[in-house]
Amino acid sequence: MLDVRDPREILARVFGFPDFRGLQSDVVAHVNAGGDALVLMPTGGGKSVCYQVPALCRPGTALVISPLIALMDDQVAAMRELGVAASSLHSEMDQETQREVWRELEAGRLDLLYLSPERLLSGNLLQRLARRSIALVAIDEAHCVSQWGHEFRPEYRLLACLPEHLPGVPRIALTATADPRTREDILASLNMPAARVFTASFHRPNLNVTVAPKESESGQLMEFLAAHKDDAGIVYVGSRAKAERTAERLRAKGIVATAFHAGLAPEVKRAALMRFRSGEAMVVVATIAFGMGIDRPDVRFVVHLDMPNSPESYYQQIGRAGRDGDPAETLLLYGAEDIARARHFLSESAAPESERQVMRARLEAMIGLVETVGCRTRSLLACFGEEMGRDCGHCDNCLAPPKRIDGTVAAQKVLSAIYRTGQMFGALHIISVLRGQTTEAVIRHGHDKLPTFGIGVEQSAGFWRGVIRHLVSFGALRAGSGEYPGLELETERARPILRGEEQVFLREDAPRRPAARDAVRATALGPHDEAVFQALRSWRARVAAEHKLPPYVIFHDSVLRDISGVKPATLDELGGIKGVGASKLERYGGAVLAVLAKG
Ligand code: ADP
Ligand code: ZN
Repeated sequence: MLDVRDPREILARVFGFPDFRGLQSDVVAHVNAGGDALVLMPTGGGKSVCYQVPALCRPGTALVISPLIALMDDQVAAMRELGVAASSLHSEMDQETQREVWRELEAGRLDLLYLSPERLLSGNLLQRLARRSIALVAIDEAHCVSQWGHEFRPEYRLLACLPEHLPGVPRIALTATADPRTREDILASLNMPAARVFTASFHRPNLNVTVAPKESESGQLMEFLAAHKDDAGIVYVGSRAKAERTAERLRAKGIVATAFHAGLAPEVKRAALMRFRSGEAMVVVATIAFGMGIDRPDVRFVVHLDMPNSPESYYQQIGRAGRDGDPAETLLLYGAEDIARARHFLSESAAPESERQVMRARLEAMIGLVETVGCRTRSLLACFGEEMGRDCGHCDNCLAPPKRIDGTVAAQKVLSAIYRTGQMFGALHIISVLRGQTTEAVIRHGHDKLPTFGIGVEQSAGFWRGVIRHLVSFGALRAGSGEYPGLELETERARPILRGEEQVFLREDAPRRPAARDAVRATALGPHDEAVFQALRSWRARVAAEHKLPPYVIFHDSVLRDISGVKPATLDELGGIKGVGASKLERYGGAVLAVLAKG
């Protein structure tokens, strides 16, 4: 193609990056040559460059389909900061602004136009666009097209008609969803069977995964948050009510926290999102409704107080931490009740059997993941068909390998205590019986008279919780039905254990690790550099507030950190720093040098 511009030159000049990363250069070359592509990269992997660079190389305007207006506005702002002519068309814009955007487009002055799928397909927009020169169509968050994900957007399915209207225009679909099933679904639903699929590794070495049994949920949460006082993070919970309750409890403890779930009024949700975007250190306690549109790169932690129902959702949620590549912590707390409840819900689900089978397989994979004694990261990636070949070295199991112990006798004690108390009580009561505790309920039911009463006195409650959890995940115990479901035996699996025909191996819950990783931070700066870094951050906060932009759109922390270390004295030197492109240099170069001169 004659007038395709040099991608590396654009990358350096506009984005300030000396080199493409990973698969980026292959994708860019393929799209520049007019090919369709499906790009699978983890969050923070650098997907945007894959379509932004070809958008600037190829003649015409590039269309970017994006599912959320809030997200679109940020993307447009970020592109404009880079000196790129970008705009958006969406339902929240007034007519006059929309007409102005259209005039820009007709004049051939737009490099990038962001659109929601419904806007693209409404009226005769597509027909009008077809008469213009279109560089490419990028379909961001392409997993929205798949019914398998929880972010399904029916209007994404209509994008299958694009080749009819825009023949010969390359399409590039991008997603961080790692599940092979969803990938297939994307290709089929978007009608791009010939697209080349680019799959990056989903391993994110900066994500430190920890999974721990629930002991005291709020105690464990508080302890975790104490190590993250100045950070932004997300706490995922299983219900709206719990989101409200937990946020309230955190606020009562003096932590800046806000709830986010689908039941809130749109303006409340928007306000929460805006506040989170502003770069403030805060905790969002959320249901899965808090997901797309969180482009904030410096989310330092993600906690799950309830177990997600598939490795896919789990990975997508923890993937929101550490987009900037700096270390980020994740903590998942789980208990026997969660596992039993999830299985129970699934068994009662009205979904067709084929769908239930998929959900069941995912749930079991999730349970396997929390119970594993091996490397978590490795098991997680294996769920997505990626073989790591070695252990990650930074998950909880790698840092403190748990032992496997013979728990056959302990398992028999639990099963018989449940059997003898009539299979109608929860773990708490069963543990009281085993440990010989004369609680009010134990006395009332006469359980202190049972032969199983006190047969487990030598072990802690935590130990017994672990045995019960293991038996639940193994499938020897299940939750009964009714309002207060007790634990019931799953006869087929429980009987061989009771008869001594089957041995049970338990994961010995590792003694709690000292908070060693609290100290893991991005490359630490010396005290003077740190002061410079803080000065640059306050400057950035001021500029961001003035321009009504999220701070990271101006410069990422990593860029400010590099600047603090290098302390460039001239614009030329400043321009040599990764992430400082021509437009940023022109806009902010002088101000940055002035901050440095004062330090
Ligand atoms: P994704 O959309 O895959 O989550 P982004 O496109 O937001 O990822 O990129 C993640 C981060 O990596 C951003 O901070 C971006 O500026 C940076 N980045 C992307 N490509 C490069 C590159 N070639 N060199 C250096 N940094 C890059
Ligand atoms: Zn590991």
